[in-house]
Amino acid sequence: MADVERERMEYDVVVVGAGPSGLAAAIRLKQLAVAAGQEIGVCVVEKGSEVGAHILSGAVFEPRALDELFPDWRERGAPLNTPAVEDRFFYLTKKHALRLPTPPQMHNRGNYIISLGNLCRWLAAQAEELGVEIYPGFAAAEVLYDEAGRVRGVATGDMGIGRDGKPTDRYTPGVELVARETLFAEGCRGSLTKTLIERFRLRDGHDPQTYAIGVKELWEIPAEQHRPGLVVHTVGWPMDGATYGGSFLYHLEDRQVAVGFVIGLDYKNPFLSPFEEFQRFKTHPAIRGFFEGGRRIAYGARALNEGGFQSIPRLDFPGGALIGCAAGFVNVPKIKGSHTAMKSGMVAAETVFARLGGAAGALVAQALQQSWVWDELYRVRNIRPSFRLGLWGGLLYSALDTYLWRGRAPWTFHHHPDHTQLVPAGQAAPIEYPRPDGKITFDRLSSVFISNTNHEEDQPAHLKLRDPAKAIAINYRLYDSPEQRYCPAGVYEIVEEAGTAGMRLQINAQNCVHCKTCDIKDPEQNIDWAVPEGGGGPNYPNM
Ligand SMILES: Cc1cc2nc3c(=O)[nH]c(=O)nc-3n(C[C@H](O)[C@H](O)[C@H](O)COP(=O)(O)OP(=O)(O)OC[C@H]3O[C@@H](n4cnc5c(N)ncnc54)[C@H](O)[C@@H]3O)c2cc1C
Ligand code: SF4
Repeated sequence: MADVERERMEYDVVVVGAGPSGLAAAIRLKQLAVAAGQEIGVCVVEKGSEVGAHILSGAVFEPRALDELFPDWRERGAPLNTPAVEDRFFYLTKKHALRLPTPPQMHNRGNYIISLGNLCRWLAAQAEELGVEIYPGFAAAEVLYDEAGRVRGVATGDMGIGRDGKPTDRYTPGVELVARETLFAEGCRGSLTKTLIERFRLRDGHDPQTYAIGVKELWEIPAEQHRPGLVVHTVGWPMDGATYGGSFLYHLEDRQVAVGFVIGLDYKNPFLSPFEEFQRFKTHPAIRGFFEGGRRIAYGARALNEGGFQSIPRLDFPGGALIGCAAGFVNVPKIKGSHTAMKSGMVAAETVFARLGGAAGALVAQALQQSWVWDELYRVRNIRPSFRLGLWGGLLYSALDTYLWRGRAPWTFHHHPDHTQLVPAGQAAPIEYPRPDGKITFDRLSSVFISNTNHEEDQPAHLKLRDPAKAIAINYRLYDSPEQRYCPAGVYEIVEEAGTAGMRLQINAQNCVHCKTCDIKDPEQNIDWAVPEGGGGPNYPNM
């Protein structure tokens, strides 16, 4: 509400997002302050109801950055309980599984199979012990600027605004979190990050970011089918050779298996449904056996960055920087981004600490270029775009790039934005998906149910159409409304307009699991994802 005075809290540094990058940054800042004998105020805001509630990852975790942040993480009890002991890589046809040599980037000796959500909960406890103030349940809804256009913090969203935009009896105004430096650690396709990239033209001279959607389930399976430390990846079926995608299957502790499917959002066929491709994948004769007699305990989905080195935007702007997947540091051939996210947060913390101490010209991007993150991402920069040649072309190119050119080929492939890649429905083959059996495969709604997603019903829609008319005039007529299929939570439905022969797009925003796919893939970029009231969204236990 424009005329309501908001409470104001002042810090040296505000961090938006309590993922691995944001928490690592906050921790590093406090460690530096302790070492320098200084006091520094650091606050982290998190839109999930608790730290970890919105974190969804694989996850095989490479501990390189954690080793640097807390060399004694073992003694401190970090939840890295399952060392990766075996890697298997398969090419699937509809009926068969052909074992392939595991690409070197996918060797996981020395890594751990973890719940990234639980690692974040542990990092949050370490941060609080160092004096970081963490506010879960508060979504940063607005970037604050001073008269000179410098970022001076963020404001959390108002609570208790009704669907009609008017305050209800629950109304509490948002809070201004004012800081000398603000780090945006919102993860992949952050909503405030998107506005900063536009305002400061951070992408000028860099490739567009590209993305994938990852759909994941957590299972508890019978002991005799469980192999703690086993890491399985597949390519091939059910993807056609032209669509980038594959599965992961990680055996954690306590008879749990994390299984998921990742599909590049540059896919072309508007009839493709990432959710149903994942369900179908689980029925493969080589995969199904892992789940028989088991119980699905959690479900969720999240987008991830795939642009890599050439898509890293300018990181610094007056008053702050982008870190982690908000900028995009996923190493795609490794399918890992949490170690690079953490390291980027740590490097940003060191730079910002220097800036607070008077080194006004210190830049996060420059410091990161001196770190192992830069070299790691540079060497694999051509691998993901080479899959434009199809699965076998991509695998062949990747082998040459890795073994012959060792990531130093004198060329760099470039990216196209994902939302321009769909072909019209009339030029695409419809896909018939099998019905779920309720044992190994499921429908969307029962899946969303176990993501524990909850939003206050009486609030303005957090999914906005820039031009509502395009939903039917373009999306429906030209692409058969692909949002019905790519949304992993069944938020978008085409329904018949009562009393007319027309159709209408119904948006069931309360089901949204905050994966951000619609914001990315909509062909007209007509869907804007904004933060709902803080605390809303999924409540992932240990994803
Ligand atoms: C399916 C899948 C599998 C993956 N597998 C692996 C793997 O095996 N190994 C690996 O290393 N990496 C993996 N990754 C990548 C890894 O998860 C990410 O690189 C990592 O989580 C990035 O960390 P981050 O801190 O930048 O962002 P995130 O982990 O996304 O955290 C961002 C946090 O910010 C919060 N937030 C966002 N916007 C706001 C706002 N406006 N206000 C308040 N809070 C906000 C979010 O709720 C969230 O808690 C995988 C990713 C996916 C999707
Ligand atoms: S509405 Fe958008 S962000 Fe929400 S679950 Fe569906 S695709 Fe993901």
